[in-house]
Amino acid sequence: MGEHDVVIIGAGMVGATLANALAQRKYRVALIDSGNPPAVDPDAYDLRVSALGRAAECVFRNLDAWPAISAQRVSPFRKMRVWDAGSGGSITFDAADVGEPQLGHIVENSLVVQALHRRLSDYPGVEVFWATEVTKIVPHRDAVTIEHQGGEFKAALVVGADGAGSWVRKHLGIGTRGTDYGQRAIVAQVRTEQPHEYTAWQRFLPTGPLAFLPLADGSCSIVWSCDRSLAEQLMGLTDEAFRYRLGEAFEFKLGKISGIGERGWFPLARSHAEDYIAVRCALIGDAAHTVHPLAGQGANLGIADAAVLAEAITGAAGGDVGVRSVLRRYERWRRGENMLMMNAVHGLQRLFQFQLQPIRQIRGLGLRLTDASGPVKELIIRRAMGISGDLPQLARCLSGNTDL
Ligand SMILES: Cc1cc2nc3c(=O)[nH]c(=O)nc-3n(C[C@H](O)[C@H](O)[C@H](O)COP(=O)(O)OP(=O)(O)OC[C@H]3O[C@@H](n4cnc5c(N)ncnc54)[C@H](O)[C@@H]3O)c2cc1C
Repeated sequence: MGEHDVVIIGAGMVGATLANALAQRKYRVALIDSGNPPAVDPDAYDLRVSALGRAAECVFRNLDAWPAISAQRVSPFRKMRVWDAGSGGSITFDAADVGEPQLGHIVENSLVVQALHRRLSDYPGVEVFWATEVTKIVPHRDAVTIEHQGGEFKAALVVGADGAGSWVRKHLGIGTRGTDYGQRAIVAQVRTEQPHEYTAWQRFLPTGPLAFLPLADGSCSIVWSCDRSLAEQLMGLTDEAFRYRLGEAFEFKLGKISGIGERGWFPLARSHAEDYIAVRCALIGDAAHTVHPLAGQGANLGIADAAVLAEAITGAAGGDVGVRSVLRRYERWRRGENMLMMNAVHGLQRLFQFQLQPIRQIRGLGLRLTDASGPVKELIIRRAMGISGDLPQLARCLSGNTDL
């Protein structure tokens, strides 16, 4: 095997973003994944979809991957309506409040990964290895060796982008802190009687949040978070019974649920790696942190990690991209930003869980006050879109590079 500047383990949305960012800067990259290349079914939506904010869009634009993504099944969302079953309080976020055409886009994960990989194939300095299991990582003073079933790689830096259950993180002996919410998120594509109005809808129920995200063909992707026993019960229902329960839980805001595809579920946990870096190693994306999907931030945070790590690597003094100063810059930059968002999301999850009457009243009042306050709403929208905070160059859209 040849030598590389960076070996990335995990070729999902976040790993493939970093590979593109480094390839664009002419680094030699190997991208290894234990799974198979992403498959996009032209007739069916991927069950895994993500709401991506402006910052993630800008990263993809700057990597020249956005045209391939936006030419496919991508839906903008211009508003977000949130309401609380417990207090009756509600809040609406509107892109127009911050002078933007949309708050973000709903994209299928597999479609984004495929577009990123197509773009990668244009770079001669990138090698991608699918269905490859890494067995050992051995850091040395001036390089790191990555062993796999078929041989080994040598690089200046290895990056773990291998998702929430990260083998890399465990192999490096890096612990995590967090909370198992004891919840599952049920996902499915559904059809509704009334149009989705390019709005992301979310109702907070005592059992957890229920979101309807707009898709390009007029249908919605749902994320219904609830505790394990309710999730098991809901998953066991017939399609017809599930459609009714779903419509009822959503207060029939978009009329009856007229159709439903396959259902799937994901476990929900908040987890934060105790360290993002080790000797000649870094963690990015879900390998470093996972958050509850209620604010649609997980992939956005991971894409920002990739953009920042690429910027830190590009600034490496003396050209050695795996030295501690590069890795410390990445960790210092991202840990605080991620922590801020993770705490906010966790706080929201907790706040909406309480059903005591006084807390419900305060919550309702808080929602109404926030809804009426222009500056506070603007602040929240900008944060959620990823257009405030300490942005890397790659996450800034150049003027004239912002239309859909
Ligand atoms: C229900 C739900 C809804 C969500 N909605 C949103 C949303 O609206 N917006 C948002 O921003 N985020 C959302 N997220 C979070 C988002 O899906 C994740 O944060 C994002 O997919 C993480 O990307 P990743 O590349 O870090 O990890 P993954 O997508 O998990 O990719 C990891 C890759 O590593 C590979 N891999 C795993 N183990 C190994 C190994 N040992 N060796 C080599 N390769 C390996 C896998 O095959 C995979 O390709 C949601 C999550 C859930 C569960």
